[in-house]
Amino acid sequence: MPLSPHTNVFAGNPLDRAADRRLDADWLAGRLDDPNSSAVAVWNGQLLLGPETQSPRRLALIPASLARGVAGGEEHLLFLGLTPEGEAMFAVDIDGAADPAEGPLRGLGAFGELRANVARMAIEDAAISATAKAVFEWRRRHRYCSNCGQPSEVAEAGWKRICPACKGEHFPRTDPVVIMLPACGDRCLLGRAARFPPGWYSCLAGFMEPGESIEEACARELMEESGLKALSVRYHSAQPWPYPSSLMIGLIAEVAEGEATPDETELESVRWFTRAETLALLAGELEGLGCPPPFAVAHQLIKAWAEGG
Ligand SMILES: [Zn+2]
Repeated sequence: MPLSPHTNVFAGNPLDRAADRRLDADWLAGRLDDPNSSAVAVWNGQLLLGPETQSPRRLALIPASLARGVAGGEEHLLFLGLTPEGEAMFAVDIDGAADPAEGPLRGLGAFGELRANVARMAIEDAAISATAKAVFEWRRRHRYCSNCGQPSEVAEAGWKRICPACKGEHFPRTDPVVIMLPACGDRCLLGRAARFPPGWYSCLAGFMEPGESIEEACARELMEESGLKALSVRYHSAQPWPYPSSLMIGLIAEVAEGEATPDETELESVRWFTRAETLALLAGELEGLGCPPPFAVAHQLIKAWAEGG
């Protein structure tokens, strides 16, 4: 039985993370040698994928021993966990300008952007990809100790960094973002940022700040971005968002009657939609207007409210 009524894309990772194995160097070395072990290959943030014609398009897994060879050291390896069959899965992070699919990984797949492919990927593969991508992106951005500035070293199979100078320990970041749909009676409010595709409207969102509860962050963002007052806040679902390390916390907020005014530093306009208009927007039937696609939690929040959830 699912843990939540709705599982967003990038959640639902089927692997057992087997965190208790991350410190067991002998076991990890054995799994890297095991011909049944596999690995996800990441090159400059892109994933090694199967043929374009696949439906759904799958990750092109490579042998773990090959991943170890390409990685050239622990710094570029990550133990992702155990598959439902009990086999180990790793990930390898490859840098450099030369496409490995034209080199050591020739014939095994082609590298592609996760965001461009996610709509047609299996949900399990999207979640595994998001995990690997987020950890490697953190590694890339946190090579130096944030306490003393010395280079840090990878530990615990890729899930931690330790500073040899000050012994500081550093863990992959997850930055919580509240993303909310404000609703008032039969209407909901959507906002439009200048960076959106033409005609697009979406939910409002913002990073949580230290010392805030989820509900308080939601109420603050609503007031800042639209001038609306939250009366109650309901959790819907969350979405790991590996660009680079956010966790989108999806909420539906009942707001007081009032005039909505956009915070023009973040939004160029806000607009009320009736339930009927919202259903048409989701179906792509509102002339000149659009909203994020189904793989985005924003779409799922709008859909849940429009369908009366
Ligand atoms: Zn340090």
